[in-house]
Amino acid sequence: MSNCFIDQIASQDILLRVTNVCGECYSDIKVGDQIYYDMQGYRYLCKTCHQELCDRMNQECEIIHEDEGLFG
Ligand SMILES: [Zn+2]
Repeated sequence: MSNCFIDQIASQDILLRVTNVCGECYSDIKVGDQIYYDMQGYRYLCKTCHQELCDRMNQECEIIHEDEGLFG
């Protein structure tokens, strides 16, 4: 859906060589978990944080601070 993230399944390789926690909430990532690589932040995010970030991003993957979005 979004080209701001690459969705992946957590592998042993990623957990050992990159990270085993979410870059945002620091919850544990386990092998087989759905994770998302944040191409702006160069970090892996859990499903929940990915969703929250997506909700706050515009088309250019920029974080929008205003609550009022142009979703219509
Ligand atoms: Zn998270």
